[in-house]
Amino acid sequence: MKGCRMPGCQRFASRHWALVDVCYHCFDNIQAETQRFYAKRIKASERTLYKQIQNIRGKAQ
Ligand SMILES: [Zn+2]
Repeated sequence: MKGCRMPGCQRFASRHWALVDVCYHCFDNIQAETQRFYAKRIKASERTLYKQIQNIRGKAQ
């Protein structure tokens, strides 16, 4: 089984976010952050989880 790619997370990956393997816990966190962004409660610069995903994708490609 694959592990979650989010930094510091030791859970098994059971889902994907933007083609990155993540666990259900990180998936929920990223989804919540994305919803806060689209609801204009946070700025693009505050999407820290999304930036981590982009970093991980950048290393994989
Ligand atoms: Zn995780």
